[in-house]
Amino acid sequence: MAITTPRTALDWEYSPAPEATDHIKLRDRYELFVDGTWRPPESGAYEPTINPATEEPLAEIAQANDADVDAAVAAARAALPRWQKLPALERGKYVFRIARLIQERARELAIVESLDGGKPIRESRDVDIPLAAAHFFYYAGWADKLQYGLAGRNVAPMGVVGQIVPWNFPLLMVAWKLAPALACGNTAVLKPAETTPLTALLLAEICQEAELPAGVVNILPGDGATGASLVRHPDIDKIAFTGSTGVGKDIQAATAGRDIGLTLELGGKSANIVFDDAAIDQAVEGIVNGIFFNQGHVCCAGSRLLIQESVAEEVIEKLWRRMGLLRVGDPLDKNTDVGAINSAEQLQRIEALVDAGEREGATRRTVSCDLPDRGYWFAPTLFTDVAPVHKIAVEEIFGPVVSVMTFRTQAEAIEKANATAYGLAAGVWTDKGSRALAVARGLKAGVVWQNTYNQFDPTSPFGGYKESGFGREGGAAGLRPYVRVS
Ligand code: NAD
Repeated sequence: MAITTPRTALDWEYSPAPEATDHIKLRDRYELFVDGTWRPPESGAYEPTINPATEEPLAEIAQANDADVDAAVAAARAALPRWQKLPALERGKYVFRIARLIQERARELAIVESLDGGKPIRESRDVDIPLAAAHFFYYAGWADKLQYGLAGRNVAPMGVVGQIVPWNFPLLMVAWKLAPALACGNTAVLKPAETTPLTALLLAEICQEAELPAGVVNILPGDGATGASLVRHPDIDKIAFTGSTGVGKDIQAATAGRDIGLTLELGGKSANIVFDDAAIDQAVEGIVNGIFFNQGHVCCAGSRLLIQESVAEEVIEKLWRRMGLLRVGDPLDKNTDVGAINSAEQLQRIEALVDAGEREGATRRTVSCDLPDRGYWFAPTLFTDVAPVHKIAVEEIFGPVVSVMTFRTQAEAIEKANATAYGLAAGVWTDKGSRALAVARGLKAGVVWQNTYNQFDPTSPFGGYKESGFGREGGAAGLRPYVRVS
């Protein structure tokens, strides 16, 4: 059953505040970045990358095949001895330089991230790009202190690492992968996602500007076949993958029995738990941030909202009112809260799961708002009357859709929160520190936020349990997957 109410009237209208794009100079065509230079793909194949808010093409992108993967891995292997021998302090300086150059080009990178991926400029400008720079700064500092990060053990780099990233935080995921890998003395072959390759390719320009030795970083745009080829390459020492659980399972099978390192950062269906003693208005803001940040394209999105029964009505009413104030539209407008859905395929996936939610008997409310005629859009949506077995309570929607369930006791909250195949993150909203700690101890989730949600910091490890994967990125723990210890 669907309830559609008119959008809550805004008290005032904002004037448009679009970010200027006239200073952005994208090339018509981007090649592969191999051995420090740009080279055409062996197959001659190019695919357009489009702006999901307008469906307009932005640039043609080279698609790497097996032969290109071979060349990139060979370049990374050839670069390894000199890179490893470099004094750690010098390696750290290169990583630091990359961080500085990201800062220098921050405005350009933020705009390109929003153009290519559809996320609001407010988020790419204030979250994605500053955090990407922060990751490089942070790991630059570790380069000459590795033995302290790893309990006094002797450490050596893994070697050539293959890294595959998704489309939801394109440059930030690249930073999570490359910064620790380089600081630890590895060389890398990185594959960006098919719908958002541009900022990774701008990072290749930054590597050139930083005079990073040729072959230390190689960037190969392409699709799943490119990723599969990288995973199966016999001369790779480690694979780091962030993406869906289905592909993660395929990668785990493909790497089984080989003497290589593997970290998997996969999907999630995270619980955001609101107790009756929580500061309700604050919790509502946290719920909004938990599920509508980045259109809900967030692996740790608080997509299962668990509310204590005695305050459920109040929280839902306040949440629905707050949702009506979200501004959906042009990602480049600085007032926009919710931008475009990343691709037509992702929009179809969200629509199919939302349809399933209605079919299975949950009550749907979707904010009614004017959406642009072109591009891919999905208005913020709330489901109540959700049963734990409903698809929308079980499967990752990866869109601006929250499924609400209730609980009576703390024990029931923990049981319901843990009743998932995933274990990436959770939020706990309560006035009592003792309760927050007790609940956090009971939750099988890699990250638990207390009275906040979706906070990221390079010093803090991030990663999952169960079908959310294994291995940690960020913090000193994020060094471990990139070294051999003895
Ligand atoms: P996806 O698994 O379809 O793709 C991720 C990357 O893997 C892309 O670069 C893709 O080209 C590549 N790929 C696809 N098939 C492959 C194969 N067979 N072998 C090797 N590589 C292959 O995921 P997506 O739709 O791009 O991203 C969304 C998913 O990523 C969600 O499930 C989300 O939860 C997850 N994610 C997890 C984290 C985390 O830290 N845990 C962070 C961001 C996103």
